[in-house]
Amino acid sequence: MPQHAQNTRVCRDCDGFPVVAITTGTRHQDGTRVTLRVTCPACQGTGHAHPERKQEVSI
Ligand SMILES: [Zn+2]
Repeated sequence: MPQHAQNTRVCRDCDGFPVVAITTGTRHQDGTRVTLRVTCPACQGTGHAHPERKQEVSI
């Protein structure tokens, strides 16, 4: 029986990879690549999903 139960809730938006380094194509003067670090806006770089509030009832 396959089990999908996890101990920690992983953020759905980034699937557990909250910080992504993007290469811009340019290089620093020392030859290293210039990367932009983008953090997931949903979990704000934590990688874990926030517990949803249950008080979201629209009237
Ligand atoms: Zn995320």
